[in-house]
Amino acid sequence: MKKMKKKYNVVIIGAGVAGITSAIYLKRANISCCIIEKEMLGGQINKTSVIENYPGIVSINGTDLSLTLMKQLETLEIPVFYENVLEVKDVGFQVKKVMTKNNQYECSGIIIATGRRPRGLSLSFEEELTGRGISYCAFCDGMLYKEKKVAVIGGGNSAFEEAIYLSNLAKEVYLIHYKDTFKADSYLIKKAKQSKNIKIKTLCEVMEYKKSKENYLTGLTIINKKTNKKQNLSVDGCFLYIGHVPNTEMFASLDILNEKNYIKVDKSMRTKYHLVYATGDVIEKELYQIVTAVSEGAIAATTLMKDRVLYEEK
Ligand SMILES: Cc1cc2nc3c(=O)[nH]c(=O)nc-3n(C[C@H](O)[C@H](O)[C@H](O)COP(=O)(O)OP(=O)(O)OC[C@H]3O[C@@H](n4cnc5c(N)ncnc54)[C@H](O)[C@@H]3O)c2cc1C
Repeated sequence: MKKMKKKYNVVIIGAGVAGITSAIYLKRANISCCIIEKEMLGGQINKTSVIENYPGIVSINGTDLSLTLMKQLETLEIPVFYENVLEVKDVGFQVKKVMTKNNQYECSGIIIATGRRPRGLSLSFEEELTGRGISYCAFCDGMLYKEKKVAVIGGGNSAFEEAIYLSNLAKEVYLIHYKDTFKADSYLIKKAKQSKNIKIKTLCEVMEYKKSKENYLTGLTIINKKTNKKQNLSVDGCFLYIGHVPNTEMFASLDILNEKNYIKVDKSMRTKYHLVYATGDVIEKELYQIVTAVSEGAIAATTLMKDRVLYEEK
């Protein structure tokens, strides 16, 4: 099938907060742009139960923030196309091409804002039990485990925040971490320790998932790294918060990835290619938060405005 051609000055790949911020800055400077998004507008914020660290907003859940962002894009008449970007071609040329299954987007500038996804434990049955007990999003799936037993794996802010969220729904929450120290903020650790139904198990690793004949998670086997003692935990849900993998497979041929597969950029968000930028969680950085993603989205767009000799739309 022949691909449809669409032309914009700038194509933004990914409609998370970083990509959306770039689009807002570009459109307000009268530069035509579109966003291509493969799943859900808002990206990772849709998986967040509550956001309480964004200035000016006391507390908001991720879905409500996404709806506000959607309204803002509609008001600015920024098109969002729901497609999976498979490849980017001709990055070194004036007219660059962003390829999806059915379309070819031609543009002079590209902002990559494809974010990252949660990492799994790479144990047997993990894929088939995802959505059948294994989850990466307490906010999305927590209600399924009302009055049931669940485990949360991890030791950072996300693990603690979501364990606390789940403790208001589930009967019991095991928080399992392979170290005896945590990366999470101290106030979250304190709150989790004060909770009556959160049981923290440190120095423990998950060895296997147990499942029913019907292919639902029924439990975990964990091992204490200090004592080497194994323990079977019967749980209906297991929420994984053990790190992330950048969404960069489709850029593998471009020579812009570092050894961890994040996109390499300078401090102004430029990649090595003229008018190709990366922003938000897809770059390697100190802090993966909404405030940093929106800040980088704004920097990428304003750098592009300075660098550009745009390919005019016909
Ligand atoms: C559970 C959880 C809780 C969090 N809590 C907080 C919090 O309280 N406060 C805070 O500040 N931050 C929080 N964060 C972090 C914050 O959500 C992220 O740092 C931020 O949303 C990243 O935005 P982004 O735009 O860079 O990437 P993302 O939100 O990951 O967006 C990238 C988008 O690109 C799309 N995409 C990927 N590949 C393609 C492709 N091939 N084609 C088209 N589209 C593609 C994805 O579908 C996605 O929508 C939390 C994150 C999680 C997971």
